[in-house]
Amino acid sequence: MIKPLDCLVIGPGPAGLTAAIYLARFHLSIAVVDAGNSRAAQIPRTLNHAGYPGGIPGRDLLKLMREQAESFAVHVEMELIERLERTQEGFIAHGENRAWSTRTILLSTGVVNNRPQMAPDVHDAALQRGLLRYCPICDGYEVTDKRVGVLGTRSHGFKEAIFLRMYTRDVTLIATDGEHDLSDEERRQLRAAEVMLVDGPCAPLRMENEQMLVATPLGELRFDSVYPALGSVIRSELATAIGADGTDDGCLAYTSDAFNCSGSDPA
Ligand SMILES: Cc1cc2nc3c(=O)[nH]c(=O)nc-3n(C[C@H](O)[C@H](O)[C@H](O)COP(=O)(O)OP(=O)(O)OC[C@H]3O[C@@H](n4cnc5c(N)ncnc54)[C@H](O)[C@@H]3O)c2cc1C
Repeated sequence: MIKPLDCLVIGPGPAGLTAAIYLARFHLSIAVVDAGNSRAAQIPRTLNHAGYPGGIPGRDLLKLMREQAESFAVHVEMELIERLERTQEGFIAHGENRAWSTRTILLSTGVVNNRPQMAPDVHDAALQRGLLRYCPICDGYEVTDKRVGVLGTRSHGFKEAIFLRMYTRDVTLIATDGEHDLSDEERRQLRAAEVMLVDGPCAPLRMENEQMLVATPLGELRFDSVYPALGSVIRSELATAIGADGTDDGCLAYTSDAFNCSGSDPA
């Protein structure tokens, strides 16, 4: 019988590739599988990654990280892992075309941002131009003193709008589906921060003259950048399907010393 791997890394985005470099340099037998949709590949140019003055596009960063992993004999195989199975030795990870037997699994499958309503080609073009942005912590600096729209409501929208006020005075929070769903306290804080509130519903977003257009019942609003704050889908289903505890928002629950589905470890 083939000896199980020491570790199967599922998901070679920045997290999984960093882990793979460490694991390979520990002389462990590992394999890495990739479904081919890292969020990092969507970064037009990251400017907050130390070591890259002038920034680096996400795809180039991934390529360099992968090259570094490969220099330690890490091989990345393209495969979507569909299901994990517990065994005496650890796990079998079932892909579409093949399976891996492994003592441990490192899940670094990332998250998927919920997108606003807009045509996919407009979405991708807006992302490349920085008219649409998903990570205020990463690129809020780039909207300093710009006119910014935040799509969302409830705690996601509230927190993102307040966070972005750190960069610009001109923040509008737009509820995409109808009226805002905010507590009195959230409304008070938004008012104090001079964040403008606009109720939806919104029509699909458009792009014009290097601006993002959001059609609301108040009329069409123009922004230098729009941040969707519509939540994310956490890709934790492989672990929860074999009994790992999930939180309400889809994260994996774990304690400080042991992940509660023994044998695997959250990245
Ligand atoms: C538009 C945009 C701009 C951003 N800008 C910045 C920035 O400037 N600076 C910054 O630091 N961060 C930025 N981020 C955030 C950054 O992209 C993420 O924090 C980072 O990609 C997370 O890395 P990760 O390895 O956890 O997940 P990911 O990069 O999403 O990688 C997950 C990997 O798991 C794989 N996978 C998932 N499910 C399976 C499966 N079942 N089987 C096999 N493989 C699977 C995927 O194919 C992928 O390779 C940005 C994000 C976006 C969307």
